[in-house]
Order: sequence, then structure tokens, then C-alpha cells
Amino acid sequence: MLIFAMMKTVYYSIRMHAERGTRHLSGGERLVPTPLVESVSAELLRRAMMHSPAAVKVSIDEVCSDQIVFGPIPEITVMPPCDYAQGRKQAVAALFEAGVSERAALSAMAAIADGASLTGGAMRGAMLIDSLLGERLEADQDRGVRATRFDLTDKASDSLTRLLQTNGFHHTRTHEALVLAAKVMAAPNIVAELCWSDAPDYTAGYVASRQTGYRRFTELKKYGDLRGGRAFFVRPGADLAETIAFLEQTPFLANRHGGLILSGG
Ligand code: AMP
Repeated sequence: MLIFAMMKTVYYSIRMHAERGTRHLSGGERLVPTPLVESVSAELLRRAMMHSPAAVKVSIDEVCSDQIVFGPIPEITVMPPCDYAQGRKQAVAALFEAGVSERAALSAMAAIADGASLTGGAMRGAMLIDSLLGERLEADQDRGVRATRFDLTDKASDSLTRLLQTNGFHHTRTHEALVLAAKVMAAPNIVAELCWSDAPDYTAGYVASRQTGYRRFTELKKYGDLRGGRAFFVRPGADLAETIAFLEQTPFLANRHGGLILSGG
């Protein structure tokens, strides 16, 4: 019993959020064993300070390691470059393939394109969208639902970095979005995810689902546009409390990944 207690790895969820006023500047999510807590917290803090924040919050919470859910990072398909209007059409088609109705796909896309928060800006988290009717289901349309408490194992991280680098796609954003998408795909009642960034200089986005894997589009918005966001599509009539509890509370570690396909068109 004592030996078992000594061998048990204790994990911590580390979350960083940097802001200036109401503007989100930088964020980060890690789930690491005890010996890495100090160095990883410092790394996240260093990242935050590069943005001259007015305030930085770093939360460190112990995680019950036997509650960690393990899962795969989906296979990546890189779609051929095209303009954002074409990209959005292809993203709607991918969502349809994933089981989202065209109405729901278009309504999520319009909400992100118009600025999905109550003030017309970016939300902190994601919209929850009924995958059939396209209705928004999240209780707070400014905060939305946040996927947190996730990371990938060192072995999977090294291997994923190699895969992305070999194909010329290594970017911290892509790496992190893949891990977030892996957790979202593992959540109960989720049909698919749609995302493009609110950063004005980052036009790429993706659709992720069990059917389509992670489909990356080079442009889902015009360069310079400050609007971006995320939509998590849920099965009609789903138990939302269960889905939100998984996304926000259940620790998730991606421990493997699929391949990368460069789509010809
Ligand atoms: P980013 O790709 O980091 O630029 O984020 C794009 C949008 O996704 C943000 O505007 C938020 O609405 C949403 N978002 C960012 N982080 C999360 C998260 N951890 N969980 C859910 N939604 C998020």
C-alpha cells in the first residue's frame, strides 16, 4: 500500500492567462507531473511577459492522476491554400461530413464572423451549438465554455513536433490547437469543432471531428480581421452539464497522434 502511494505520480494542471483590461493577450494550458511544475510555470510566465500584460494569472491545481483520461490527437489533413470565402465553404462541407447540419454550420460561422460575444468581440471560450438546429446553448455568451486541463505526454509531444516540422507546419498555435481539439473530440456528446483565431495576423483555422480528423484551412478569415472564435457542436438533446464538466474539469492527456496528409484538393 505504502509502495503504491510512493509510486503514484501526482499531476498538476497549470493555467496561465495574461490580459490588459478586458483584452486577452496570451494563455496557456499544461498538465504535468510534480517535478516539472516550477519550470513549466516559469515557461508560461515568460510567454505571458512577452505581451506586456497589465495582469497575469497563473493557477496551479493538483489533479487526481487516476482521473486522467488518455486519448489520441486526430489525424491532420492540410487543405490546399485558397481564399477565406472558399475556405469557409470547405469548412461547412467538412462540418456536414462530421454530422453537423448545414444550418448549424452556417449559423456558427456567421456568429464567429460577426464577433460572437455580446459586445461583438471575441469570446473567452467557445460557443455550444446544437448540431441540428444551430441554436446557441452556452449560458454565458461572453465567457462561453472553456476547454481546460489538457496536455500531451512528452513522448507524444516530441513525435508530434517532428511530424509538424517535417511538413513545415510547426507553430505553437497549431500544436496547442491540436491538443485542445483532441480533448474536445474525447468529450461526451460533441459532434465537431470549428475554430479560427481572433489574432489579426493568424488567418488559419480548422474543423475537427471523429469523422474528418483535424482539417486545417490556411484561411478562414481576412488578414487583419480581429474577429475569431470557436464553436463546439453538440448532439441535439445532449446532457450539457456532462459535456461542460468534461471540457472544463476532467484532466486529459493526449498520448498518441495520427499522421499528416497534404490534401491535393
Ligand atoms: P485562439 O485560437 O487562441 O486565437 O482562440 C480563438 C478563439 O477560441 C478565442 O477567441 C476563444 O473564443 C476561443 N478559445 C480560446 N481558448 C479556448 C479554450 N481553452 N476553450 C474554448 N474556447 C477557447
